[in-house]
Amino acid sequence: MALQLFNTLTRSVERFVPLDSAGKRVGMYCCGPTVHDFAHIGNFRTFVFADLTRRYLEFRGFAVLHVMNITDVEDKIIKRVRERQTTLREFTSKHETEFLADFESLQCRRPHILPRATEHIPEIISLIEKLVARGIAYQAADGSVYFSITKYRGCGCCYGQLVNLDFEAMRVGERVACDEYDKEAVADFALWKRRVPEDGAVFWPSPWGEGRPGWHIECSAMSIKHLGESFDLHLGGEDLTFPHHEDEIAQSEGALNYPPGRRFVKHWMHSSHLLVEGKKMSKSLGNFFTLRDLLAKGFSGREVRYLLLSAHYRSQFNFTLDGLAGARASLARLDECVGKLRELADAPSAPQEHDLLVAFTKAMDDDLNISAAWGAVFEWVTETNRKLAANELTRPQAAAALAAWNRVDEVFGLGGPKSEEVPAAVLALVEQRQAARQAKDFKRSDVVRDQLKALGWIVEDTPKGPRVKRI
Ligand code: AMP
Ligand code: ZN
Repeated sequence: MALQLFNTLTRSVERFVPLDSAGKRVGMYCCGPTVHDFAHIGNFRTFVFADLTRRYLEFRGFAVLHVMNITDVEDKIIKRVRERQTTLREFTSKHETEFLADFESLQCRRPHILPRATEHIPEIISLIEKLVARGIAYQAADGSVYFSITKYRGCGCCYGQLVNLDFEAMRVGERVACDEYDKEAVADFALWKRRVPEDGAVFWPSPWGEGRPGWHIECSAMSIKHLGESFDLHLGGEDLTFPHHEDEIAQSEGALNYPPGRRFVKHWMHSSHLLVEGKKMSKSLGNFFTLRDLLAKGFSGREVRYLLLSAHYRSQFNFTLDGLAGARASLARLDECVGKLRELADAPSAPQEHDLLVAFTKAMDDDLNISAAWGAVFEWVTETNRKLAANELTRPQAAAALAAWNRVDEVFGLGGPKSEEVPAAVLALVEQRQAARQAKDFKRSDVVRDQLKALGWIVEDTPKGPRVKRI
């Protein structure tokens, strides 16, 4: 089977065929973070999903060019810069660094290009100029430049490609200056916002006076600059479908006047939200965890990644700390099996046809069906454990199984558990237990074992000495 992906544009699962005539290169853009605060793990669900998509495309042999922008100028950022009495660059660079550190802790592959909006002002202005020249954008009495939905539709273009819009009911033609607006209105949105005193030092010159770009136009300009006027894949969280992505299409297709059959983006993918007690995890509801919150509770980035990868990207997923503890236990089970294979395997084996790879690929080809992929992995774990216990695996078979798992893990991106994840207090207890055992003080060694258990760790005695693992 070939790779099939759901396309929000056609509302159907389609065979993924890149624009590249050789069928090899894929341009992929994912709307990146707005760097005004720590990202929460809901945001990271979307970025881990983008990482998974990229990794699976690479696993399938595509050469992916992955672009993820950094939104470093928009309403919320300007508000914070004003409140903190700092500069735009100082404020955003701090949050950008924090974001990228979390991104790395979650073991995401770094995008090839990370463009910042503030470094693309000429490209943004040039795109707006094209819209003005075509009569689709206009400067209003407030000095800002707006995108006219009516004029755009008048050019024969369709506004409402990603979502079905009821123009009668949706208060067409209202005008909005803010970046995020009421989804019940089909509004003319700001492309260039005229400078106001509250903007402080955040402004650039333009043919329409000093000001700054709107959020939507930033993504059109940056994606076109780095991936070309038409590219393969555009990703984001489901809340970006409308208006942000609809507006990106309108701006790009309005400015570039594509010939029939050509489009800005071929394939749109949106991930469902991470929920908390049934509600979207968000800053505004205050129901969020940052990665740091979870690291402080003793979880690792790898465990959080595993949890975020446990559900299909199009199904909503409820976050709980119990769920995260469950993820830790499943991951430990997987690690244990892989660890035993590693001990048994002889020389590394070249990847070859293996039942695990066949089942994994079949599942992931079906719109990245990760639930089915995990089903196949844990069936393999059960079967491998059975064979290991029955001494039925030869060393070359163990090496082949390990090679298959390593291929699968290029997509999951979990890697091995890091030894430094064992806290120092736990290591000290392991040493105390070992000393007690050597002194044949088994009462004491049992007490220490119970202390370890209370901390959530268990010791196993192996020929190579004691090995500690999470319960
Ligand atoms: P922002 O930094 O607010 O621009 O958001 C970055 C990304 O996170 C966007 O693609 C959003 O759609 C996505 N996002 C925001 N909240 C959630 C959530 N609760 N679950 C999944 N993705 C989210
Ligand atoms: Zn965007």
